[in-house]
Amino acid sequence: MFDRRQFLIGTASLSFATLLPHQLFSQEPKSTRIILLGTKGGPSVGKSGRSNPATLMLINDVPYLVDCGYGSSRQLLSAGISLNRLRHIFITHHHSDHHLELGALIYNAWITGTPIRIDAYGPSGLRRMTQDFFNYQKFDIDTRIVDEGRPDPRKLVVAHEFNQPGLVLQNEAVKVTSCLVRHPPIKLAFAYRFDAKDRSVVISGDTAYAPELVEFAKGADVLVHEVMYLPGVEALIKRLPNAKRLREHLLAAHTLPEEVGKIADRAGVKTLVLSHFVPGDDASITDEQWAAGARKNFKGRIIVGKDLMEI
Ligand SMILES: [Zn+2]
Ligand SMILES: [Zn+2]
Repeated sequence: MFDRRQFLIGTASLSFATLLPHQLFSQEPKSTRIILLGTKGGPSVGKSGRSNPATLMLINDVPYLVDCGYGSSRQLLSAGISLNRLRHIFITHHHSDHHLELGALIYNAWITGTPIRIDAYGPSGLRRMTQDFFNYQKFDIDTRIVDEGRPDPRKLVVAHEFNQPGLVLQNEAVKVTSCLVRHPPIKLAFAYRFDAKDRSVVISGDTAYAPELVEFAKGADVLVHEVMYLPGVEALIKRLPNAKRLREHLLAAHTLPEEVGKIADRAGVKTLVLSHFVPGDDASITDEQWAAGARKNFKGRIIVGKDLMEI
């Protein structure tokens, strides 16, 4: 199960937060749980600190995973989710920090032992990517099918591609819809909204300030939104040879805290969760610095996300 100690350590520095940890745990268990698996924006891998992007929802104990950056398998296990329980994977867009572990995750679920069915949803290119992974591992997979009597994993995965926003999935527990957001130069970048019986949750994916999200996130209980802290970016790129180009990309493709607050306020969400931090590995940026800009425009509850935090 979820490691409460880690959560408590992770929130110990939230001196300004409107929500105290004991308030979180005094609530009744929810049938829709959100667990942040990886909260660092970008593909770089660190030996410590935040893991690459992935957000888990458990709806009636069924996992719905949004994005699977590097390390997602380990983070799922750390959250207490056996990999063969994976059932639905949603990819927001085709930057590698959001799907580098897609194939490996499916593989890891398969090798865990029980036959699975995984439905993967995402922008065009998803099917090809899944097939390419299976080709990459063809020798191993074919060997294990014969040598270990395993089922063929290629038949256990269904890739659902789309290039328009709208309904993604509907079952008796949840309705999942998507919204096109702004993440140049990538044209197909989507936010997802999960409307379950007890909660509505919106995950922005990667986006620049996108007023479309106001309507899409209207009245949601929880908005998990990406965020970029400009002074941190300036400090980061100073050291890089491609600083000018990288700065232009980041400014065009991500959202500043003030703008995140504006979206949350106009959408009227109850709780704003900051995640996909850019830069995600600068420990000198405090939680208060991440949240202050958003707080200027949003008076509701703000949570500065941490890996393995449950909301
Ligand atoms: Zn990203
Ligand atoms: Zn991206």
